[in-house]
Amino acid sequence: MPIDFAATKALFHLPEGVVYLDGNSLGPMVRTAPARVDRVVQAEWGEMLIRGWNKAGWMAQPAALGNRVGRLIGAAAGTVVLGDTLSIKVYQALASALEMNPKRRVILSDTGNFPSDLYMAEGLCRTLGGQYRLKTVSPEAVMAAIDDSVAVVMLTEVDYRTGRRHDMADITRRAHEMGALTVWDLAHSAGAIPVDLARAGADFAVGCTYKYLNSGPGGPAFIYVAPAHAEVARPALSGWLGHAAPFAFDLSYRPGPGIERMRVGTPPVLQMAALEAAMEVWDGVSMAEVHAQSLRLQDQLIKGVETRAPMLTLATPRSHLMRGSQVSFRHPEGYAIMQALIAEGVIGDFRAPDILRFGFTPLYIDEDDVARAVSVLARIMDYGTWDKPEFKARAAVT
Ligand SMILES: *Cc1c(COP(=O)(O)O)cnc(C)c1O
Repeated sequence: MPIDFAATKALFHLPEGVVYLDGNSLGPMVRTAPARVDRVVQAEWGEMLIRGWNKAGWMAQPAALGNRVGRLIGAAAGTVVLGDTLSIKVYQALASALEMNPKRRVILSDTGNFPSDLYMAEGLCRTLGGQYRLKTVSPEAVMAAIDDSVAVVMLTEVDYRTGRRHDMADITRRAHEMGALTVWDLAHSAGAIPVDLARAGADFAVGCTYKYLNSGPGGPAFIYVAPAHAEVARPALSGWLGHAAPFAFDLSYRPGPGIERMRVGTPPVLQMAALEAAMEVWDGVSMAEVHAQSLRLQDQLIKGVETRAPMLTLATPRSHLMRGSQVSFRHPEGYAIMQALIAEGVIGDFRAPDILRFGFTPLYIDEDDVARAVSVLARIMDYGTWDKPEFKARAAVT
């Protein structure tokens, strides 16, 4: 049955008068989340106390949720686990991948990658004693840069700034031909576009759930390990919950079975309750359909902006095949323009140096929302209302 987008919109809480085009940064709340979290707080934490780990199934939740997230990214059951934050999971995946390719010393990434991924790689290289090197090239140059020095190709599938999408299957194939492994960051893919990790042959993947998947600020990240590597990969962050028998309290580490070993420490139970509520919406949808609708809405915005606010320059590829679920424009006064938009209830965000970013999340954004965003933006540009000191003062979070 096709998705009834009006019905899914009603499942989300959106503040009155807001057009929310920032679900790529922090997804809104599903309406059932407060009651779900409250139940876990009162009935589980409050009443069960420590018994909740067994009685309420808190310990099994990271793998159970992993299976549900896995369905959206083409990962078989038992190959995804939740926990920690994305930066931690990037480190975990990258360290394991490097160890599995011991003769090589280069991590290849691109200049469109999210800085935290690059910072984690730099830190890991330093910890490994400086024999390893992080090499970054432009997104367009990645394919040609995969040579026989590369140990791991580490990329974010959809560029957080421009929305440009890499061809995961193509790059993974090339990496394997050259003897490299892949780590894919799905921060802007999970819940945004159809992903098929198994078909692409991806080795490792990571992502977060507080963006498109609506788990709330600080929601847990996820990690995927291909079944062929599950019993081989060794976690560098070898915490007790990745141990084969955490409650044996052995003095030395033995990795747990399969994906369980990628866990590190105590899972965020309350935050996972919010994710469980959100997954009830996600469980029923086809990502192909969500993305097709996203592309229609994106095209509506692009057409509207290019017609009515032509001083903004499109930064996102025009080809549907190269797009994620966001549209970005460049303008030297991008920051002030975005603040003026937000002041009028049209919420996107700004990414330095000059990018205005609009996320498309069709489960709760429709044609009327996009039409309103276009007319507010056109008015701000026509009257220059962005040109005020209050819109130019930079906040800590942009
Ligand atoms: C959002 C994002 C992050 C953020 O990492 P956290 O540890 O969750 O703060 C990292 N990498 C990418 C590609 C992102 O888009």
